Amino acid sequence: MIRTLAITGCVFLSFHIKAQEGYKNFEVAIYSRAYETAKMRDDNWIQPVWDEISRQLQVDKVYLETHRDLLLVDELTLLKAKKFFESKGIRTAGGITLTVNESNNYQTFCYTNPEHRKKIREVVEFTARHFDELILDDFFFTNCKCDLCVKAKGTKNWTDFRLELMTKAAKDLIIDPAKAVNPKIKIVVKYPNWYDHFQGSGFNLETEPKMFDGLYTGTETRDPSSNQHLQQYLGYNIFRYFDNLKPGKNGGGWVDPGGLTYMDRYAEQLWITMFAKAPEITLFDFRQLQRPLQKSDRAAWQSLATTSFNYDEMMKPVADKNGKMVAPTTIARAAGYTFETIDQFLGLLGKPVGVKSYKPFHSTGEDFLQNYMGMIGVPMDMVPEFPENEPIVFLTEQAKSDPEIMGKIKKQLLAGKDVMITSGFLKAMQDKVNDIVELRVTDQKASVKEFGAGWGPHSFTDREILIPQIRYNTNDSWEIVSAFDDTNGWPIIHRADYAKGKLYVLTIPENVVDLYHLPTDVLTRIREILTPNLPAVLEAPGYTSLFVYDNNTVIVESFADETTQVKLQLANGFTKAKNLVSGEELFAEKKEYPQRRKPSIIKLTLNLELKPHSYVVLKLEK
Ligand SMILES: [Zn+2]
Repeated sequence: MIRTLAITGCVFLSFHIKAQEGYKNFEVAIYSRAYETAKMRDDNWIQPVWDEISRQLQVDKVYLETHRDLLLVDELTLLKAKKFFESKGIRTAGGITLTVNESNNYQTFCYTNPEHRKKIREVVEFTARHFDELILDDFFFTNCKCDLCVKAKGTKNWTDFRLELMTKAAKDLIIDPAKAVNPKIKIVVKYPNWYDHFQGSGFNLETEPKMFDGLYTGTETRDPSSNQHLQQYLGYNIFRYFDNLKPGKNGGGWVDPGGLTYMDRYAEQLWITMFAKAPEITLFDFRQLQRPLQKSDRAAWQSLATTSFNYDEMMKPVADKNGKMVAPTTIARAAGYTFETIDQFLGLLGKPVGVKSYKPFHSTGEDFLQNYMGMIGVPMDMVPEFPENEPIVFLTEQAKSDPEIMGKIKKQLLAGKDVMITSGFLKAMQDKVNDIVELRVTDQKASVKEFGAGWGPHSFTDREILIPQIRYNTNDSWEIVSAFDDTNGWPIIHRADYAKGKLYVLTIPENVVDLYHLPTDVLTRIREILTPNLPAVLEAPGYTSLFVYDNNTVIVESFADETTQVKLQLANGFTKAKNLVSGEELFAEKKEYPQRRKPSIIKLTLNLELKPHSYVVLKLEK
């Protein structure tokens, strides 16, 4: 340590000490695919790989996969690999990937084929004999449509057939065989990031969380414009959602470096996972952590601003186990640097909170919409039951699949509380919604650029946004925010009173990503209605997220490529905030909000400058 201090000064020393002791607020695991586990029979392979990774990144645990693509690691190799890590004080757990051939459109096993079932049982028993913890990676689903499956499906639809098939497989092929050979074993099912489509392939979020000892969450979002269209906010939202499926038993988040076009994107996925308060993060995988750092990893904005992921700082030499300073070589250092940075404040955050959005099991419609809401600064908290005791509940088209949904909405409204439904829910359910308020979503669309809230100047977008036209009866319900084209107009936010409660309708643009392009004042109105009890509301354009914790800490994050100036409205008597990264004290200013036929409202707001792809961490103070 003293040697390090002499060479590099205090700032580096503090990082160095942490790297030696592990991170304070979370653990880090690395996943080894069967291909790499098999190579571990050779010390000449694993020793230099391990040295290279572990001098750049602190590791607590290694998942040793025993099977993938019909490659089963032999027992001697597995024992050798376990011993290698355990001799270094690294914990090990087993991993299984249930693929026949991943490169053939992710070919899974066939769960109706007796030979496949026998093979799965053997792999599970073999792995359970060697580990007290076992994780299933991503592929405990089936996409098999062989003759046997077609016959077994009969007249059911594929979703129902596969949901039932995989629930039985979880018991008969995984849990029972594993516990029979090792009663102590903890069995964890790791789910990938495409949660809205799980039921189609038999991932059963209704039955499996109850059956397995734990869950684990794929929080990688990679390039949001790739064909999965995963928004950056998903990494946070999916972790919280799975934690709500089995509270306290969501073991961690899991990120790979796929789809990287700049290194900030990798770092962003890691820290968003940790903003959800994951206790552990798994880096996939041994092979990919050896990816060299390249000049093109340094994003254009790195030269213009000091961003949360500071590429040049990350590239500074780090000490190896002998204290020798060595320049970073692979993305393991990008992970290590990111973890050291966020570890300094993660412990100061409370429990994440947000607006509850009810997603019934196996529901479809308006796919992944809650992540788009997160990207416009609405803190989301998806739950599998209609939540009681919330001031407002957010319902997308997916809520239609609960046959009791209208009764639950009415009960909430009669209790004097609010509900916001989307235009997608309204369209699917308008006959039933009419019992609350008579509204119609027509098949007509409008192309709009002009928006207004009934008072004050109108605001404009720089692109045309296509919206569905919602019709209502004059003087029966009310436009809160409107969109205009020439002298015509339609609701963006609509309100109907019902007993003491209010039903809001949010119009979702035909292209959901246009939510990001709505004017800031429209977005702010959406946030204000959805989060009446939170201590802070964003006034910011799209691509800005707000993370709120129950101890009045908040994180504001920008996903934009430029520096943006945003405001944070403070409520609940807060007047200032402390920046938990820089220590700077920020004082709120009074801002006047004109009202129609009423005196202006005065609110206290903080002015924040957000660097590209960067966050600000604040403790709100009175
Ligand atoms: Zn089959």
